[in-house]
Amino acid sequence: MNIHEYQAKALLREYGAPVSDGRVVLKAEDAKTAAGELDGPLWVVKAQIHAGGRGKGSFKEADAGEKGGVRLAFSVEEAAEEAKKMLGRTLVTHQTGAPGKQVNRIYIEDGSDISRELYLAFLVDRQSSRISIVASTEGGMDIEEVAASTPEKILTFTIDPATGYMPYHGRRVAFALGLEGAQVKQCVALLNNLYRAFVEKDMEMLEINPLIVMEDGNLKLLDAKVGFDGNAVYRHADVAALRDETEEDPKELAASKFDLNYIALDGEIGCMVNGAGLAMATMDIIKLYGAEPANFLDVGGGATKEKVAEAFKIITSDPKVKGILVNIFGGIMRCDVIAEGVVAAVKEVGLEVPLVVRLEGTNVEKGKEIINTSGLNVIAADNLSDGAEKIVKAVKG
Ligand code: GDP
Ligand code: MG
Repeated sequence: MNIHEYQAKALLREYGAPVSDGRVVLKAEDAKTAAGELDGPLWVVKAQIHAGGRGKGSFKEADAGEKGGVRLAFSVEEAAEEAKKMLGRTLVTHQTGAPGKQVNRIYIEDGSDISRELYLAFLVDRQSSRISIVASTEGGMDIEEVAASTPEKILTFTIDPATGYMPYHGRRVAFALGLEGAQVKQCVALLNNLYRAFVEKDMEMLEINPLIVMEDGNLKLLDAKVGFDGNAVYRHADVAALRDETEEDPKELAASKFDLNYIALDGEIGCMVNGAGLAMATMDIIKLYGAEPANFLDVGGGATKEKVAEAFKIITSDPKVKGILVNIFGGIMRCDVIAEGVVAAVKEVGLEVPLVVRLEGTNVEKGKEIINTSGLNVIAADNLSDGAEKIVKAVKG
């Protein structure tokens, strides 16, 4: 689960991390009051979306102005003006993809004087099963370019869970970042605080880009991107409260309400499968036959007829879906339950694309009978590759 920059900064401030004073603005008419509460003489007006690369992004609407999603302003009026231009407009960055994201919140922040922009991140490294610190002297808006062309400038430090964060980790990072004197102490303390936040709040990723050295020599977090482990959010009511559902894919949101494991993808074949492994195999074999899956969906073991119907509705609500493959290997899941769910959903929302159903396992005969007597236009398949071949053929001709 991701949160906005201003939320991440408020959270990290509680852990003692240095961030600027700022105000979030939801309505254009509040922008001036918000900016007026900050000291100036520099204001930074920042679009809040769950995607990075805002500074180098651009807006789809001409009246949003030529600049990106992070703008400097030199008066309260100018700050309010820039906030108004961005609110409600669509920001496209290299992370949003072509459709972009609508800007519904603006963060107005006290501007900082920058001497150097550094990169700092904490993440869970699956290879070593440990938390890693990633640091670079080349922070700012081109970190992807640095990673691609000069990867040696990005350094990784691993933390042994038996010791947790130790001051020497902080000193190593500080030296790698070229920090000196009092900055080293600040860095050691800052990393300690960030590590505590990371572990206590079950974060998956914490990225500070840039971490800046200010003109006065002090460190500050100028940007903050935080992602939490979705499976642990139930342990943190304060984190759950930060969820902004408008930032999520509506199909994924609906799926999460019904406890379905669903991830929207870009392809044309909707998949309804039970079991994550079978879902992966189904996606692979669709690709093998020359098409692309429109989603990953694992309806789970104990799905009810209602849950299956919801899953089917989510798949059919995607205009990219040109065909649907239901691939069920009923072990705990019963084939007749799946069949009933599919039939109920089709009766409710209709079916405008080809549907291939492959059922195998518990109550398979009963399931097939429900489908066959339903009057639905279903193409039956005998096994996984037969099913994939048939749906790709039905879609691509
Ligand atoms: P991102 O593009 O989504 O990563 O947004 P950031 O919050 O990282 O801002 C992008 C860039 O805007 C930073 O790398 C800075 O160069 C600049 N910027 C952000 N805040 C300030 C500020 O307070 N003062 C100045 N001078 N520049 C800023
Ligand atoms: Mg940034």
